[in-house]
Amino acid sequence: MKTILRTDLTVEDISRGFTYNEYEGKGLYGWSGKLTIQPEYQRNYIYNDGKKDVAVIDSLLKKYPLGIIYFNRVGEDKYEVLDGQQRITSFGRFLTDKFAIKDENGMEQYFSGLAKDKQEIIMQSHLLIYICEGEESEIKEWFKTINIAGVPLNEQELLNAVYSGPFVTKAKEVFSNSTNSRIQIWDAFLSGNVKRQDYLHTALEWVCKGKCTVGDYMCRHRYDDNISELYTYFNSVIDWIQSVFSDVESEMRGQEWGRLYETYHKKSYDINAIHTRLTELYADPYVKNRKGIYEYLLSGEILPQLLDVRVFDEATKKAIYKKQTEEAKAEGKSNCPYCAIGHDNNSAKIWEQKDMDADHVTAWSKGGSTDISNCQMLCKHHNRAKGNK
Ligand SMILES: [Zn+2]
Repeated sequence: MKTILRTDLTVEDISRGFTYNEYEGKGLYGWSGKLTIQPEYQRNYIYNDGKKDVAVIDSLLKKYPLGIIYFNRVGEDKYEVLDGQQRITSFGRFLTDKFAIKDENGMEQYFSGLAKDKQEIIMQSHLLIYICEGEESEIKEWFKTINIAGVPLNEQELLNAVYSGPFVTKAKEVFSNSTNSRIQIWDAFLSGNVKRQDYLHTALEWVCKGKCTVGDYMCRHRYDDNISELYTYFNSVIDWIQSVFSDVESEMRGQEWGRLYETYHKKSYDINAIHTRLTELYADPYVKNRKGIYEYLLSGEILPQLLDVRVFDEATKKAIYKKQTEEAKAEGKSNCPYCAIGHDNNSAKIWEQKDMDADHVTAWSKGGSTDISNCQMLCKHHNRAKGNK
């Protein structure tokens, strides 16, 4: 890889012909059209928070260096930003009056309203730019390395860099485009940050169905000019969730919907009955894990362990054990009521407490409560046998 250092270029040079796409939320070109600011493997512009972008302008006004910027030479007088996209987009947007800074009197000032000398300070700031030239793989490998210094790329951002191509470009247009109106619907079910590629990552995980890694999938589809399989599958999952659950609860975000879809989508559900049960379970003080309610309902309420239902406390177990054992001894029967009605050697056996478990007389799933009035001690064998029914 070859590198040359340029110190002659100014903010004004690089901002010449700056274009910013509001729709996609990213800077596109600069340096009189010679520079592509956001190549497809770059992350979206994330500095427009009124802090990081303002800090870039403050630095320029104070004549602080902006740090090293890296360009990749991709053709005759054609360049791509390897590192520095956020900084360039920040000053490019400022020079085109896309945001304001506060002056010393706390007044908002756009670039066009700044005093001439201040405008000059910004425009004449020299930048420190390394221009590199090398093989795609070399550049990308190195890109991974330099990014460790800034906000580190997360897994999906790195995968987008490694497998950049038409598939990633198309996938990002759908799954990391915050102006996509569908995103508001997806917000109810997906967790993470759209701009940091978390929704794209989830969509890829779903379509992989646990059979391959996201990286494998992206590698295989890298040069596809469409994302139909990914998009269709993703929509099937979302449509299915909406066909089963009419509620919108915070616990729905970040569920393993892909896995749930694969496991349960062939069963049919009554959306009203699901809603009623969901409301009851949310109100049930014995349910400790609300996140588990979704799969519990999908499974036909056969997996109460998903709800982490409150168990009997030690004091309750001890009191019930004592009562059952005293009564059993007086009657010459086993202290396990199930053993007591049997006809084998255990029918008069007195179990120690450590060999018994607490059981809901009326199952929790049938409305039985988790308090002393609904507790009985069973020998481990009978407790297990009852639990399996
Ligand atoms: Zn028993």
